Amino acid sequence: MRAVVYDEIGASPEVRDVPSPEAPAGGVVVEVHATGLCRSDWHAWAGHDDIALPHVPGHELAGIVASVGVGVRDWSVGDRVTVPFVEGCGRCEWCLGGDAQVCPAQEQPGFTHWGSFAEYVALHAADTNLVAVPDDVSFEAAAALGCRFATAWRALTGRAAVRPGEWVTVVGAGGVGLSTVMIAKALGAKVIAVDRNRGALAAAEALGADAVLEADGSDVPAAVHELTSGGSHVAVDAVGSEATCADAILSLRRRGRHVQVGLLPPVDGHPRVPMARVIGWELDVLGSHGMAAVDYPGMMALIASGQLRPQTLVERVVGLEEAAVLLPLLEQAAPAGMTMIDPRPAAG
Ligand SMILES: [Zn+2]
Ligand SMILES: [Zn+2]
Repeated sequence: MRAVVYDEIGASPEVRDVPSPEAPAGGVVVEVHATGLCRSDWHAWAGHDDIALPHVPGHELAGIVASVGVGVRDWSVGDRVTVPFVEGCGRCEWCLGGDAQVCPAQEQPGFTHWGSFAEYVALHAADTNLVAVPDDVSFEAAAALGCRFATAWRALTGRAAVRPGEWVTVVGAGGVGLSTVMIAKALGAKVIAVDRNRGALAAAEALGADAVLEADGSDVPAAVHELTSGGSHVAVDAVGSEATCADAILSLRRRGRHVQVGLLPPVDGHPRVPMARVIGWELDVLGSHGMAAVDYPGMMALIASGQLRPQTLVERVVGLEEAAVLLPLLEQAAPAGMTMIDPRPAAG
């Protein structure tokens, strides 16, 4: 099969022929029809994750089951499927309790094994992790769910428990941030989007953001407190930096809920978070790490009915060759919206 491969950390990815994967016991091989290009793929390429080389990236995917390993109960060749980026083992207490997103024995395509920037990808514990894609949901829309959209959904519903009429401040309007804006609006919240990039803010407005703030060095929390008469009920840091995390937390009203979605790099060994405000105002600081397959049906129903439209976040579809060029550029030139890859040969 053809795949995007890199042989060393930071080396130029190239498209070449590699052996197709075989279905593991309990798992499947999926023919990839759509796979998202994500900043997490860049983090692995840049050496921030522990990966084996040579490596094939890609963890946000949808496609058709091409072969089935021994012991799979619920899935057959030809099924339209997607998968969360965290694949739980299906056997531990967290998986059995419906929280495969924090499974200690989790697998992640594109990290723990070869991913989906390829014609085929192996997926583990199919009965725990596969999600059926209805016929009226496109593969592009389904692939958009695997990482960023499902993470945004769970951050707002499973973690922050957003209620209609509440203010939600979203810091960062890239793929996960715009997903958060769209979902918060669908949940009946009032939304403020914050970003450095005016194009990203325009995209947030198009998705229904009630207000946008340019992070141009001005006092973002003060502006949020002004707009919301005392602070936001919920804040989401969709970027993951000391500044964006602090802006999100300091934008909250007393007893507000913060969800950290962007990976927060350490400063001198630990991330710096404004804990004095967290304590004094009794803020909840919540982590969010994707979403288990078992939680997909509610979200998928809203997509099938057209109330949520993740496909509108897809800005462009490219082939494997262009994906290989774009991957190393993701840090400097994070494009607006999502870039989707179609690895099938006809797609070029
Ligand atoms: Zn598990
Ligand atoms: Zn991702």
